[in-house]
Amino acid sequence: MINLYALTHAQLRDLLLELGEKPFRVRQIWSWMYGRRVEDFAAMRNLPSATRAKIMEVAKLGELTVAAQQVSRDGTVKRVYRLRDGQFIESVLMPYADGRMTACLSSQAGCAMGCVFCATGQMGFSRNLTPTEIFEQAMLFARELAARGERLSNVVFMGMGEPFHNYEASLAAVRMLMRRLGIGARHITISTVGLAPQIRRFADEGLQVKLAVSLHKSDDAERSQLLPVNRRWDIEALLDACRYYGARTNRRISFEWAAIAGENDTVDEARRLGRLLQGMNCHINIIPLNPTGGYTGIPADSRHIEAFQAILRSFGLASTVRLRRGIDIAAGCGQLKTALLLPEARAGSTIPAMPKEARPQP
Ligand code: SAH
Ligand code: SF4
Repeated sequence: MINLYALTHAQLRDLLLELGEKPFRVRQIWSWMYGRRVEDFAAMRNLPSATRAKIMEVAKLGELTVAAQQVSRDGTVKRVYRLRDGQFIESVLMPYADGRMTACLSSQAGCAMGCVFCATGQMGFSRNLTPTEIFEQAMLFARELAARGERLSNVVFMGMGEPFHNYEASLAAVRMLMRRLGIGARHITISTVGLAPQIRRFADEGLQVKLAVSLHKSDDAERSQLLPVNRRWDIEALLDACRYYGARTNRRISFEWAAIAGENDTVDEARRLGRLLQGMNCHINIIPLNPTGGYTGIPADSRHIEAFQAILRSFGLASTVRLRRGIDIAAGCGQLKTALLLPEARAGSTIPAMPKEARPQP
């Protein structure tokens, strides 16, 4: 079976011509798939039933299957997908009170970067995802939302995997999100652990896509303990690449800071970080550590975080604390891990309806 989501417009045309269909059907089917976002061929009402039958014999709409799903009290949906070869990946959908709907996508099955506090890092690397496998995670959310009159508005590459370790596929998926789902570049964020050469390459793409960089530590020896990738590209190499990105794109970088009690939430750390980033066009996104099985650290408390932010402010650096989403279902940053599929997670695969007022504020 051919996955139609994997085809370009030209490839879809070739397929339809092969099936003896008229060229104008391409436009019709394309618009059912990506404009109306229907879930099956039966919904493509302006196609003759013979045409539909012919297509259904050789093609399908999507090939990710929902292996498990859990819904958090805050409306966050965590979904485990089974890939064609039996690998599992996870995607998260986060509704917000202002109507925003953000999908968090995986770019790899597992991750090779080995960050010690991250559940994905703890499980190791299986393989890269294809552009279609990345895109389809968003596509499936988008079409379920469309069925009830809602729109997928934002995408973040913050699920399993390091998007810049699968650079081409991640960028190809970004372009599919933009062209097919009409998600503006400014509503897409790629988060990287700090692969300096790819940050430079990304700067040269001429895209308006946002960049987030996982910093977490301001001292090389300590950062290498938490993020082994730092041994390859240290803080200076990383920030050089970030400055290049800033100069090249004029865009603000966001630095992620997983705040760990006693580890990177101290006054000294804040001052060192302040000196490091002073004058840069950036923003610091503080994420209180989410617990994972393989790491004993605990989240920084709000008192320490506030003091930390005050010091950053004195260096002219703006920061925010990221809302923790889906913690009760282990869908928070760095918690995605497929080893455990709780029994209650196997129920239904649809996105539950939740009134906008009940959703968290952005
Ligand atoms: N590989 C990319 C993107 C996926 S991780 C990256 O590392 O940037 C998305 C974010 O979650 C990163 O900033 C990552 O450092 C952070 N993260 C990982 N584990 C975490 C944890 N246990 N608690 C809080 N944030 C975590
Ligand atoms: Fe990979 Fe990002 Fe997790 Fe590090 S934090 S192991 S780079 S997914």
